[in-house]
Amino acid sequence: MKFYGKAEETGQTILQAFQSGSVPAALAPLFITGNQERYCACWSWLNQLLVALHGYSDARTYNGWQEVKRQVRKGEKAFCIFEPVRTTVHDTTTGEERMLVIGYKAGARFGIEQTDGEPLPGNEETQRFVDSLPLLTVAQTWGIRVTTYNGREGSAHGYFRTVGEEAEAIALGVANLSTWAHELVHAADHRLGNLKETGQHWRSETVAELGGCILLHMLGRPTEADSGGAWEYVKRYAQNADIDPLNACVEVLNRTCQAVSLIMQTAGEVTTVEAI
Ligand SMILES: [Zn+2]
Repeated sequence: MKFYGKAEETGQTILQAFQSGSVPAALAPLFITGNQERYCACWSWLNQLLVALHGYSDARTYNGWQEVKRQVRKGEKAFCIFEPVRTTVHDTTTGEERMLVIGYKAGARFGIEQTDGEPLPGNEETQRFVDSLPLLTVAQTWGIRVTTYNGREGSAHGYFRTVGEEAEAIALGVANLSTWAHELVHAADHRLGNLKETGQHWRSETVAELGGCILLHMLGRPTEADSGGAWEYVKRYAQNADIDPLNACVEVLNRTCQAVSLIMQTAGEVTTVEAI
């Protein structure tokens, strides 16, 4: 692979920094909170996350889109959110009627990206942020939709989602470039057929975190590469699996460099095509 050597060289330098302890303090997460203007902003956080995980920046019902003069394109498939099922109860002490949520049912929604029609305000900020991401064209070339959700303390900073064998979406809850690079490396690792672990496994997580760090260093963004944050992340997974964190990095270095190399190569090819 064309960029493998450069990725490995960068990886070795990062590993040396890990070993000597000469890494800066981890960067604080910059939670994304700018999604208040969208239609789904009043939904539960979980439902908003479901919209993002499907790669959409907003969602409504089929008829809901028609009401704002947008039409769901033929052949588009709906996804489901949790709709509360409510009932009215009569409070015998106060004599008042109260609405009570007694459960949830699946409700079909379509993402704005599945519709055509009148432009709507409220999604510009998300779009601007997504458009500003380096290497966005790589995800687009691989047919991966990229979107954001409102991040918060204690929840995942980002997601890479597949449906069956297909990579579908990357959703970001923070504006830190390291998280974007991490998810993109997951996508490359998946594309190479190397991502076989399910859930949050130390092996795939080390590939993504170390890979994201290498990638941003190669792009000349050493601060955003957040070596300190990467080291904290790798250590956490290694310690939970009872393995040495440096050994964890060394063990997956080859697989990591393959993923980084694929991203750089794809970016190079896209740039070449764009330049013609
Ligand atoms: Zn991950």
